[in-house]
Amino acid sequence: MNYNTLEDKDFINLISTSSDYYVIMFGASWCGPCQIMKPVYDELATSHKYQKLVKFVYLDRDTTRHYNQDYGFEIPTIPRFFLVKFEANGIFSHFNIKISFGGSQSLDSFNQKLDDYFSISNPQKNANTTESPNIDFSEITNTLTNMNTITHKKPTVAIIGSGPSGLTAAIYTARAELETTIYTGLEPGGQLTTTTEIENFPGAWDATTKAGMMGPDLMQLMQKQAEHFGAKSVLTEIRGIEIDDKAETKFTLDIGGKKEKFDAVIIASGASAKYLGIAGEEKFVGKGYHTCATCDGFFYRGKIIAVIGGGDSAMEEANFLTKFAEKVYLIHRREEFRASKIMLERARENPKIEFVLNKAPIDFMGDEEVTGLVLKDSITSQTSELNLDGVFVAIGHIPNTGFVKGQLSMDETGYLIPQAKRPPEERTSHYGTMSEIPGIFIAGDVEDKTYRQAITAAGGGCKAAMDTEKWLADQE
Ligand code: NAP
Repeated sequence: MNYNTLEDKDFINLISTSSDYYVIMFGASWCGPCQIMKPVYDELATSHKYQKLVKFVYLDRDTTRHYNQDYGFEIPTIPRFFLVKFEANGIFSHFNIKISFGGSQSLDSFNQKLDDYFSISNPQKNANTTESPNIDFSEITNTLTNMNTITHKKPTVAIIGSGPSGLTAAIYTARAELETTIYTGLEPGGQLTTTTEIENFPGAWDATTKAGMMGPDLMQLMQKQAEHFGAKSVLTEIRGIEIDDKAETKFTLDIGGKKEKFDAVIIASGASAKYLGIAGEEKFVGKGYHTCATCDGFFYRGKIIAVIGGGDSAMEEANFLTKFAEKVYLIHRREEFRASKIMLERARENPKIEFVLNKAPIDFMGDEEVTGLVLKDSITSQTSELNLDGVFVAIGHIPNTGFVKGQLSMDETGYLIPQAKRPPEERTSHYGTMSEIPGIFIAGDVEDKTYRQAITAAGGGCKAAMDTEKWLADQE
Protein backbone atom coordinates (compact mmCIF):
# COMPACT_ATOMS: atom_id res chain seq x y z
CA MET A 1 0.00 0.00 0.00
CA ASN A 2 1.20 3.50 -0.81
CA TYR A 3 -0.85 5.08 1.93
CA ASN A 4 -0.40 4.61 5.66
CA THR A 5 -3.06 3.37 8.04
CA LEU A 6 -3.17 5.71 11.01
CA GLU A 7 -4.21 5.06 14.55
CA ASP A 8 -5.70 7.57 16.96
CA LYS A 9 -2.31 8.37 18.52
CA ASP A 10 -0.76 9.01 15.08
CA PHE A 11 -3.49 11.48 14.24
CA ILE A 12 -3.04 13.33 17.54
CA ASN A 13 0.69 13.45 16.84
CA LEU A 14 0.11 14.93 13.37
CA ILE A 15 -2.00 17.74 14.82
CA SER A 16 0.94 18.88 16.94
CA THR A 17 3.83 18.20 14.61
CA SER A 18 2.79 18.33 10.97
CA SER A 19 2.18 21.33 8.77
CA ASP A 20 1.38 19.31 5.67
CA TYR A 21 -1.62 18.56 3.52
CA TYR A 22 -3.11 15.10 3.98
CA VAL A 23 -5.84 13.23 2.18
CA ILE A 24 -7.65 11.05 4.69
CA MET A 25 -9.87 8.14 3.73
CA PHE A 26 -12.30 6.97 6.40
CA GLY A 27 -13.44 3.38 5.84
CA ALA A 28 -14.17 0.10 7.58
CA SER A 29 -13.42 -3.56 6.96
CA TRP A 30 -17.14 -4.41 6.75
CA CYS A 31 -17.86 -1.71 4.17
CA GLY A 32 -17.99 -3.08 0.63
CA PRO A 33 -17.63 0.26 -1.22
CA CYS A 34 -14.55 0.99 0.97
CA GLN A 35 -12.90 -2.20 -0.25
CA ILE A 36 -13.63 -1.19 -3.84
CA MET A 37 -12.14 2.23 -3.25
CA LYS A 38 -8.95 1.09 -1.51
CA PRO A 39 -7.09 0.09 -4.73
CA VAL A 40 -8.21 3.33 -6.40
CA TYR A 41 -7.00 5.29 -3.39
CA ASP A 42 -3.74 3.35 -3.45
CA GLU A 43 -3.27 4.22 -7.11
CA LEU A 44 -3.98 7.86 -6.34
CA ALA A 45 -1.38 7.82 -3.58
CA THR A 46 1.17 6.47 -6.09
CA SER A 47 0.35 8.54 -9.11
CA HIS A 48 -1.09 11.82 -8.00
CA LYS A 49 0.71 14.85 -9.34
CA TYR A 50 0.59 16.47 -5.92
CA GLN A 51 2.16 13.49 -4.26
CA LYS A 52 5.11 15.57 -3.07
CA LEU A 53 2.74 18.00 -1.48
CA VAL A 54 0.03 15.75 -0.10
CA LYS A 55 0.27 12.60 1.99
CA PHE A 56 -2.35 9.88 1.82
CA VAL A 57 -3.60 8.05 4.90
CA TYR A 58 -6.43 5.75 5.96
CA LEU A 59 -8.38 5.85 9.22
CA ASP A 60 -10.75 3.21 10.53
CA ARG A 61 -14.19 4.76 10.93
CA ASP A 62 -15.15 2.40 13.75
CA THR A 63 -12.30 3.45 16.04
CA THR A 64 -12.57 7.14 15.18
CA ARG A 65 -16.28 7.78 15.62
CA HIS A 66 -15.50 10.56 18.12
CA TYR A 67 -13.66 12.49 15.34
CA ASN A 68 -16.91 14.18 14.36
CA GLN A 69 -17.37 15.60 17.86
CA ASP A 70 -13.66 16.25 18.45
CA TYR A 71 -12.50 17.55 15.08
CA GLY A 72 -15.55 18.26 12.92
CA PHE A 73 -15.24 15.34 10.50
CA GLU A 74 -18.84 14.93 9.34
CA ILE A 75 -19.15 11.39 7.97
CA PRO A 76 -22.71 10.48 6.98
CA THR A 77 -21.52 7.50 4.92
CA ILE A 78 -18.26 5.68 4.19
CA PRO A 79 -16.01 5.69 2.32
CA ARG A 80 -15.45 9.41 2.90
CA PHE A 81 -12.43 11.45 1.88
CA PHE A 82 -11.06 14.68 3.31
CA LEU A 83 -8.26 16.97 2.24
CA VAL A 84 -6.95 18.55 5.44
CA LYS A 85 -4.18 20.95 6.34
CA PHE A 86 -2.33 20.43 9.60
CA GLU A 87 -0.74 23.46 11.19
CA ALA A 88 1.56 21.97 13.83
CA ASN A 89 -0.15 24.05 16.50
CA GLY A 90 -2.08 21.35 18.38
CA ILE A 91 -5.40 22.62 16.99
CA PHE A 92 -7.54 20.72 14.53
CA SER A 93 -11.13 21.70 13.82
CA HIS A 94 -13.39 21.60 10.80
CA PHE A 95 -11.63 24.75 9.56
CA ASN A 96 -8.64 22.52 8.79
CA ILE A 97 -10.83 20.53 6.42
CA LYS A 98 -10.45 21.85 2.87
CA ILE A 99 -12.47 19.38 0.82
CA SER A 100 -14.76 16.52 1.75
CA PHE A 101 -16.52 14.04 -0.49
CA GLY A 102 -17.98 10.57 -0.22
CA GLY A 103 -18.93 7.52 -2.26
CA SER A 104 -17.18 5.81 -5.12
CA GLN A 105 -14.71 7.98 -6.99
CA SER A 106 -12.75 7.45 -10.16
CA LEU A 107 -9.06 8.37 -10.26
CA ASP A 108 -9.99 11.20 -12.59
CA SER A 109 -12.55 12.67 -10.24
CA PHE A 110 -10.13 12.38 -7.31
CA ASN A 111 -7.43 14.16 -9.27
CA GLN A 112 -9.86 16.79 -10.47
CA LYS A 113 -11.04 17.61 -6.95
CA LEU A 114 -7.49 18.05 -5.64
CA ASP A 115 -6.53 19.94 -8.77
CA ASP A 116 -9.45 22.30 -8.32
CA TYR A 117 -8.55 22.95 -4.72
CA PHE A 118 -4.91 23.68 -5.35
CA SER A 119 -5.42 25.73 -8.49
CA ILE A 120 -8.19 27.82 -6.89
CA SER A 121 -6.39 28.31 -3.57
CA ASN A 122 -2.99 28.83 -5.02
CA PRO A 123 -3.01 29.41 -8.77
CA GLN A 124 0.57 30.65 -8.92
CA LYS A 125 2.04 27.44 -7.51
CA ASN A 126 3.57 24.72 -9.59
CA ALA A 127 1.90 21.38 -9.01
CA ASN A 128 5.22 19.61 -8.55
CA THR A 129 6.50 21.92 -5.86
CA THR A 130 7.63 20.42 -2.59
CA GLU A 131 6.56 23.49 -0.64
CA SER A 132 3.18 23.83 1.01
CA PRO A 133 0.85 26.26 -0.74
CA ASN A 134 0.93 29.69 0.81
CA ILE A 135 -2.63 29.95 2.09
CA ASP A 136 -3.65 32.75 4.44
CA PHE A 137 -5.12 31.15 7.55
CA SER A 138 -5.62 34.39 9.47
CA GLU A 139 -9.37 34.54 8.88
CA ILE A 140 -9.70 30.91 9.84
CA THR A 141 -7.67 31.41 13.01
CA ASN A 142 -9.70 34.48 14.01
CA THR A 143 -12.90 32.60 13.47
CA LEU A 144 -11.62 29.66 15.44
CA THR A 145 -10.58 31.87 18.33
CA ASN A 146 -13.63 34.07 18.51
CA MET A 147 -16.34 31.84 17.02
CA ASN A 148 -17.65 35.21 15.90
CA THR A 149 -20.28 36.33 13.43
CA ILE A 150 -18.95 37.23 10.01
CA THR A 151 -20.87 39.98 8.23
CA HIS A 152 -20.48 40.27 4.43
CA LYS A 153 -20.85 43.36 2.29
CA LYS A 154 -24.29 43.70 0.80
CA PRO A 155 -26.10 42.28 -1.10
CA THR A 156 -25.44 38.72 -0.09
CA VAL A 157 -27.37 35.56 -0.85
CA ALA A 158 -27.14 32.20 0.87
CA ILE A 159 -28.22 29.19 -1.15
CA ILE A 160 -29.04 26.16 0.95
CA GLY A 161 -28.54 23.06 -1.17
CA SER A 162 -26.33 22.03 -4.07
CA GLY A 163 -28.60 20.00 -6.33
CA PRO A 164 -29.75 21.31 -9.73
CA SER A 165 -32.00 23.96 -8.14
CA GLY A 166 -29.37 25.35 -5.76
CA LEU A 167 -26.60 25.35 -8.34
CA THR A 168 -28.76 26.92 -11.05
CA ALA A 169 -29.83 29.59 -8.56
CA ALA A 170 -26.15 30.15 -7.75
CA ILE A 171 -25.22 30.56 -11.42
CA TYR A 172 -27.91 33.22 -11.78
CA THR A 173 -27.27 35.12 -8.53
CA ALA A 174 -23.49 35.04 -9.02
CA ARG A 175 -23.84 36.34 -12.59
CA ALA A 176 -26.14 39.05 -11.23
CA GLU A 177 -23.20 40.12 -9.03
CA LEU A 178 -24.82 39.11 -5.78
CA GLU A 179 -22.29 37.71 -3.32
CA THR A 180 -23.35 34.09 -3.37
CA THR A 181 -22.55 31.34 -0.88
CA ILE A 182 -23.78 27.82 -1.56
CA TYR A 183 -24.17 25.66 1.56
CA THR A 184 -23.85 22.28 -0.08
CA GLY A 185 -25.12 20.01 2.70
CA LEU A 186 -23.15 16.86 3.50
CA GLU A 187 -23.72 15.23 0.11
CA PRO A 188 -22.79 17.90 -2.45
CA GLY A 189 -24.66 17.57 -5.71
CA GLY A 190 -27.77 16.07 -4.14
CA GLN A 191 -29.79 13.17 -5.46
CA LEU A 192 -28.34 13.16 -8.98
CA THR A 193 -25.00 12.06 -7.56
CA THR A 194 -26.61 8.72 -6.71
CA THR A 195 -27.98 8.11 -10.21
CA THR A 196 -26.22 6.80 -13.27
CA GLU A 197 -26.91 8.09 -16.75
CA ILE A 198 -29.23 11.07 -17.19
CA GLU A 199 -30.94 10.87 -20.55
CA ASN A 200 -33.45 13.65 -20.18
CA PHE A 201 -31.50 16.74 -19.16
CA PRO A 202 -31.47 18.78 -22.38
CA GLY A 203 -27.98 19.34 -23.70
CA ALA A 204 -26.25 16.93 -21.31
CA TRP A 205 -26.09 14.34 -24.05
CA ASP A 206 -23.34 13.11 -26.36
CA ALA A 207 -24.41 13.16 -30.01
CA THR A 208 -21.69 10.68 -30.98
CA THR A 209 -22.24 8.01 -28.37
CA LYS A 210 -25.94 8.82 -27.99
CA ALA A 211 -25.44 8.62 -24.23
CA GLY A 212 -26.52 10.99 -21.49
CA MET A 213 -24.13 12.40 -18.92
CA MET A 214 -23.55 10.59 -15.65
CA GLY A 215 -25.35 12.23 -12.70
CA PRO A 216 -22.21 13.03 -10.66
CA ASP A 217 -20.47 14.50 -13.73
CA LEU A 218 -23.42 16.76 -14.50
CA MET A 219 -23.50 18.04 -10.93
CA GLN A 220 -19.76 18.62 -10.84
CA LEU A 221 -20.04 20.66 -14.01
CA MET A 222 -22.88 22.76 -12.58
CA GLN A 223 -20.86 23.46 -9.45
CA LYS A 224 -17.83 24.52 -11.49
CA GLN A 225 -20.05 26.78 -13.58
CA ALA A 226 -21.46 28.45 -10.44
CA GLU A 227 -17.97 28.85 -8.97
CA HIS A 228 -16.67 30.25 -12.25
CA PHE A 229 -19.11 33.14 -11.85
CA GLY A 230 -17.98 33.76 -8.28
CA ALA A 231 -20.19 31.60 -6.07
CA LYS A 232 -18.46 30.15 -3.02
CA SER A 233 -19.23 26.59 -1.89
CA VAL A 234 -19.19 25.60 1.76
CA LEU A 235 -19.55 21.98 2.71
CA THR A 236 -21.81 22.00 5.74
CA GLU A 237 -25.36 21.58 6.88
CA ILE A 238 -27.50 24.54 7.92
CA ARG A 239 -29.08 24.03 11.33
CA GLY A 240 -31.50 26.99 11.27
CA ILE A 241 -32.25 30.52 10.09
CA GLU A 242 -32.58 33.42 12.53
CA ILE A 243 -34.58 36.38 11.26
CA ASP A 244 -34.25 39.92 12.55
CA ASP A 245 -36.43 42.36 10.60
CA LYS A 246 -34.81 45.35 12.26
CA ALA A 247 -31.23 44.32 11.53
CA GLU A 248 -29.42 45.76 8.55
CA THR A 249 -28.67 42.21 7.41
CA LYS A 250 -31.83 40.30 8.11
CA PHE A 251 -30.91 36.62 8.02
CA THR A 252 -28.40 34.77 10.18
CA LEU A 253 -27.64 31.16 9.27
CA ASP A 254 -26.68 28.72 11.99
CA ILE A 255 -23.82 26.67 10.62
CA GLY A 256 -23.12 24.86 13.87
CA GLY A 257 -20.77 26.83 16.11
CA LYS A 258 -20.57 29.67 13.61
CA LYS A 259 -23.07 32.17 12.22
CA GLU A 260 -23.18 34.01 8.93
CA LYS A 261 -25.40 36.92 7.90
CA PHE A 262 -27.16 37.33 4.56
CA ASP A 263 -29.59 39.71 2.91
CA ALA A 264 -31.56 36.93 1.22
CA VAL A 265 -31.80 33.16 1.39
CA ILE A 266 -32.78 30.63 -1.25
CA ILE A 267 -33.84 27.29 0.20
CA ALA A 268 -33.04 24.53 -2.30
CA SER A 269 -32.41 21.74 0.16
CA GLY A 270 -34.18 19.05 -1.89
CA ALA A 271 -35.49 15.75 -0.62
CA SER A 272 -33.97 12.50 0.72
CA ALA A 273 -34.73 8.85 0.07
CA LYS A 274 -37.60 7.36 2.09
CA TYR A 275 -37.31 4.11 4.06
CA LEU A 276 -40.05 1.50 4.41
CA GLY A 277 -40.58 2.05 8.13
CA ILE A 278 -40.86 -1.66 8.98
CA ALA A 279 -39.30 -3.61 11.85
CA GLY A 280 -35.58 -4.35 11.61
CA GLU A 281 -34.95 -1.77 8.97
CA GLU A 282 -32.26 0.17 10.83
CA LYS A 283 -30.38 -2.99 11.75
CA PHE A 284 -30.17 -4.17 8.15
CA VAL A 285 -29.12 -0.92 6.47
CA GLY A 286 -25.91 -1.77 4.61
CA LYS A 287 -26.35 -5.45 5.49
CA GLY A 288 -28.49 -6.48 2.59
CA TYR A 289 -30.80 -3.46 2.72
CA HIS A 290 -29.91 -0.45 0.56
CA THR A 291 -31.27 2.82 -0.81
CA CYS A 292 -28.73 3.38 -3.56
CA ALA A 293 -28.33 0.89 -6.40
CA THR A 294 -25.46 2.82 -7.94
CA CYS A 295 -23.52 2.65 -4.68
CA ASP A 296 -24.17 -0.94 -3.65
CA GLY A 297 -25.36 -2.85 -6.72
CA PHE A 298 -21.85 -4.08 -7.42
CA PHE A 299 -22.00 -6.46 -4.45
CA TYR A 300 -24.87 -8.43 -5.90
CA ARG A 301 -23.16 -9.99 -8.87
CA GLY A 302 -24.94 -13.25 -9.63
CA LYS A 303 -27.34 -12.77 -6.68
CA ILE A 304 -31.08 -12.63 -6.29
CA ILE A 305 -32.37 -9.30 -5.11
CA ALA A 306 -35.52 -7.19 -4.90
CA VAL A 307 -36.37 -3.58 -5.61
CA ILE A 308 -39.36 -2.10 -3.77
CA GLY A 309 -41.49 0.60 -5.42
CA GLY A 310 -43.58 1.40 -8.46
CA GLY A 311 -42.14 4.76 -9.57
CA ASP A 312 -39.44 5.75 -12.04
CA SER A 313 -36.75 5.28 -9.38
CA ALA A 314 -37.76 1.65 -8.83
CA MET A 315 -37.77 0.94 -12.58
CA GLU A 316 -34.43 2.63 -13.10
CA GLU A 317 -32.81 0.85 -10.16
CA ALA A 318 -34.23 -2.54 -11.16
CA ASN A 319 -32.89 -2.17 -14.69
CA PHE A 320 -29.52 -0.99 -13.44
CA LEU A 321 -29.24 -3.85 -10.96
CA THR A 322 -29.72 -6.46 -13.69
CA LYS A 323 -26.18 -5.54 -14.76
CA PHE A 324 -25.01 -7.43 -11.69
CA ALA A 325 -27.80 -9.57 -10.30
CA GLU A 326 -28.95 -12.91 -11.64
CA LYS A 327 -32.55 -11.95 -10.98
CA VAL A 328 -34.37 -8.84 -9.74
CA TYR A 329 -37.86 -8.98 -8.24
CA LEU A 330 -39.73 -5.69 -8.64
CA ILE A 331 -42.08 -5.66 -5.65
CA HIS A 332 -44.92 -3.15 -5.73
CA ARG A 333 -47.92 -2.79 -3.43
CA ARG A 334 -50.50 -2.37 -6.20
CA GLU A 335 -50.99 -3.01 -9.93
CA GLU A 336 -50.90 0.59 -11.12
CA PHE A 337 -47.59 2.38 -11.43
CA ARG A 338 -46.42 5.93 -10.93
CA ALA A 339 -43.53 5.18 -13.27
CA SER A 340 -43.56 6.75 -16.74
CA LYS A 341 -44.57 4.47 -19.60
CA ILE A 342 -41.11 4.30 -21.13
CA MET A 343 -39.39 3.37 -17.86
CA LEU A 344 -42.04 0.80 -17.02
CA GLU A 345 -41.77 -0.78 -20.47
CA ARG A 346 -37.99 -0.99 -20.20
CA ALA A 347 -38.31 -2.88 -16.93
CA ARG A 348 -41.04 -5.14 -18.30
CA GLU A 349 -38.93 -6.02 -21.31
CA ASN A 350 -35.93 -6.92 -19.17
CA PRO A 351 -35.82 -10.73 -18.90
CA LYS A 352 -34.03 -10.60 -15.56
CA ILE A 353 -36.82 -8.61 -13.88
CA GLU A 354 -39.89 -10.36 -12.44
CA PHE A 355 -42.80 -8.23 -11.24
CA VAL A 356 -44.36 -9.15 -7.87
CA LEU A 357 -47.50 -7.05 -7.59
CA ASN A 358 -50.01 -6.30 -4.84
CA LYS A 359 -47.40 -7.18 -2.26
CA ALA A 360 -45.96 -4.99 0.48
CA PRO A 361 -42.94 -5.91 2.62
CA ILE A 362 -43.87 -6.21 6.30
CA ASP A 363 -40.75 -7.82 7.78
CA PHE A 364 -37.15 -8.77 7.02
CA MET A 365 -35.85 -12.34 7.16
CA GLY A 366 -32.33 -12.98 8.48
CA ASP A 367 -30.31 -12.52 11.65
CA GLU A 368 -27.19 -10.53 10.83
CA GLU A 369 -27.90 -9.94 7.14
CA VAL A 370 -31.05 -9.86 5.03
CA THR A 371 -31.97 -13.31 3.70
CA GLY A 372 -35.41 -12.38 2.44
CA LEU A 373 -38.64 -10.48 2.93
CA VAL A 374 -42.02 -11.31 4.43
CA LEU A 375 -44.65 -9.92 2.07
CA LYS A 376 -48.31 -9.19 2.67
CA ASP A 377 -50.78 -9.44 -0.19
CA SER A 378 -52.64 -6.11 -0.47
CA ILE A 379 -55.82 -7.86 -1.66
CA THR A 380 -56.00 -11.13 0.29
CA SER A 381 -53.88 -10.04 3.32
CA GLN A 382 -52.08 -13.37 3.09
CA THR A 383 -48.40 -13.38 3.96
CA SER A 384 -45.62 -15.10 2.06
CA GLU A 385 -41.84 -15.30 2.23
CA LEU A 386 -39.36 -14.49 -0.54
CA ASN A 387 -35.74 -15.56 -0.21
CA LEU A 388 -33.35 -12.83 -1.31
CA ASP A 389 -29.69 -11.85 -1.08
CA GLY A 390 -30.46 -8.16 -0.93
CA VAL A 391 -33.19 -5.53 -0.98
CA PHE A 392 -33.11 -2.06 -2.56
CA VAL A 393 -35.80 0.39 -1.58
CA ALA A 394 -36.93 3.04 -4.09
CA ILE A 395 -40.18 4.41 -2.71
CA GLY A 396 -39.76 8.14 -3.02
CA HIS A 397 -38.43 10.93 -0.92
CA ILE A 398 -39.04 13.25 2.02
CA PRO A 399 -38.28 16.96 1.73
CA ASN A 400 -35.34 18.30 3.75
CA THR A 401 -37.20 21.00 5.62
CA GLY A 402 -36.58 20.09 9.30
CA PHE A 403 -34.34 23.13 9.80
CA VAL A 404 -37.23 25.56 9.10
CA LYS A 405 -39.98 23.59 10.85
CA GLY A 406 -42.33 25.93 12.69
CA GLN A 407 -40.88 28.90 10.80
CA LEU A 408 -42.18 28.38 7.26
CA SER A 409 -45.48 26.78 6.36
CA MET A 410 -45.38 23.29 4.89
CA ASP A 411 -47.93 20.90 3.48
CA GLU A 412 -48.90 17.70 5.28
CA THR A 413 -45.83 15.89 3.95
CA GLY A 414 -43.35 18.63 4.83
CA TYR A 415 -42.96 20.31 1.42
CA LEU A 416 -42.54 24.11 1.53
CA ILE A 417 -45.20 26.28 -0.11
CA PRO A 418 -44.03 29.21 -2.24
CA GLN A 419 -46.38 32.10 -3.03
CA ALA A 420 -47.23 30.72 -6.49
CA LYS A 421 -48.68 27.56 -4.92
CA ARG A 422 -50.93 29.39 -2.45
CA PRO A 423 -54.55 30.33 -3.17
CA PRO A 424 -54.64 33.92 -4.51
CA GLU A 425 -56.29 35.26 -1.33
CA GLU A 426 -53.43 33.90 0.81
CA ARG A 427 -50.59 35.37 -1.23
CA THR A 428 -48.60 38.10 0.46
CA SER A 429 -46.19 38.89 -2.38
CA HIS A 430 -46.11 38.91 -6.16
CA TYR A 431 -42.78 37.02 -6.09
CA GLY A 432 -43.91 33.49 -6.98
CA THR A 433 -40.94 31.70 -5.37
CA MET A 434 -40.99 33.67 -2.12
CA SER A 435 -42.01 32.05 1.15
CA GLU A 436 -44.24 33.93 3.61
CA ILE A 437 -41.07 35.57 4.96
CA PRO A 438 -39.89 38.32 2.60
CA GLY A 439 -36.32 37.56 1.56
CA ILE A 440 -36.56 33.77 1.89
CA PHE A 441 -37.13 32.09 -1.46
CA ILE A 442 -37.84 28.44 -2.26
CA ALA A 443 -36.70 26.28 -5.20
CA GLY A 444 -36.66 22.71 -6.44
CA ASP A 445 -37.70 19.41 -4.90
CA VAL A 446 -38.14 20.99 -1.50
CA GLU A 447 -41.39 22.49 -2.84
CA ASP A 448 -42.18 20.17 -5.75
CA LYS A 449 -43.62 16.76 -5.17
CA THR A 450 -45.18 16.49 -8.60
CA TYR A 451 -42.42 16.77 -11.18
CA ARG A 452 -39.17 16.29 -9.20
CA GLN A 453 -36.95 16.28 -12.24
CA ALA A 454 -33.46 17.72 -12.47
CA ILE A 455 -34.66 20.06 -15.20
CA THR A 456 -37.71 21.31 -13.26
CA ALA A 457 -35.54 21.79 -10.17
CA ALA A 458 -33.06 23.77 -12.27
CA GLY A 459 -35.94 25.88 -13.64
CA GLY A 460 -37.12 26.51 -10.07
CA GLY A 461 -33.63 27.60 -9.08
CA CYS A 462 -33.56 30.07 -11.97
CA LYS A 463 -36.91 31.56 -10.97
CA ALA A 464 -35.94 31.87 -7.31
CA ALA A 465 -32.67 33.58 -8.23
CA MET A 466 -34.43 36.08 -10.51
CA ASP A 467 -37.02 36.83 -7.81
CA THR A 468 -34.23 37.26 -5.25
CA GLU A 469 -32.37 39.69 -7.47
CA LYS A 470 -35.49 41.80 -8.10
CA TRP A 471 -36.57 41.71 -4.46
CA LEU A 472 -33.13 42.84 -3.28
CA ALA A 473 -33.20 45.69 -5.81
CA ASP A 474 -36.64 46.71 -4.46
CA GLN A 475 -35.20 46.98 -0.94
CA GLU A 476 -32.59 49.56 -1.89
P1 NAP B 1 -42.55 8.08 -6.69
O1 NAP B 1 -42.84 8.41 -8.10
O2 NAP B 1 -43.21 8.88 -5.62
O3 NAP B 1 -42.85 6.55 -6.48
C1 NAP B 1 -42.75 5.95 -5.20
C2 NAP B 1 -43.24 4.52 -5.29
O4 NAP B 1 -43.00 3.87 -4.05
C3 NAP B 1 -44.72 4.43 -5.56
O5 NAP B 1 -44.94 3.39 -6.46
C4 NAP B 1 -45.30 4.10 -4.19
O6 NAP B 1 -46.42 3.30 -4.25
C5 NAP B 1 -44.20 3.30 -3.56
N1 NAP B 1 -44.20 3.42 -2.09
C6 NAP B 1 -44.22 4.55 -1.34
N2 NAP B 1 -44.17 4.26 -0.02
C7 NAP B 1 -44.14 2.91 0.07
C8 NAP B 1 -44.08 2.01 1.15
N3 NAP B 1 -44.02 2.44 2.43
N4 NAP B 1 -44.07 0.68 0.88
C9 NAP B 1 -44.09 0.24 -0.41
N5 NAP B 1 -44.14 1.04 -1.49
C10 NAP B 1 -44.16 2.37 -1.25
O7 NAP B 1 -40.97 8.22 -6.37
P2 NAP B 1 -39.72 7.97 -7.34
O8 NAP B 1 -39.86 6.74 -8.11
O9 NAP B 1 -38.55 8.14 -6.42
O10 NAP B 1 -39.76 9.19 -8.35
C11 NAP B 1 -39.76 10.54 -7.87
C12 NAP B 1 -39.70 11.52 -9.06
O11 NAP B 1 -38.42 11.45 -9.68
C13 NAP B 1 -40.74 11.21 -10.13
O12 NAP B 1 -41.24 12.41 -10.63
C14 NAP B 1 -39.95 10.49 -11.19
O13 NAP B 1 -40.49 10.66 -12.48
C15 NAP B 1 -38.58 11.14 -11.07
N6 NAP B 1 -37.51 10.22 -11.50
C16 NAP B 1 -37.10 10.31 -12.79
C17 NAP B 1 -36.11 9.47 -13.25
C18 NAP B 1 -35.64 9.61 -14.68
O14 NAP B 1 -36.33 10.25 -15.46
N7 NAP B 1 -34.49 9.09 -15.05
C19 NAP B 1 -35.56 8.50 -12.42
C20 NAP B 1 -36.01 8.42 -11.11
C21 NAP B 1 -37.01 9.29 -10.66
P3 NAP B 1 -47.89 3.90 -4.64
O15 NAP B 1 -47.79 4.21 -6.07
O16 NAP B 1 -48.80 2.80 -4.28
O17 NAP B 1 -48.04 5.12 -3.76
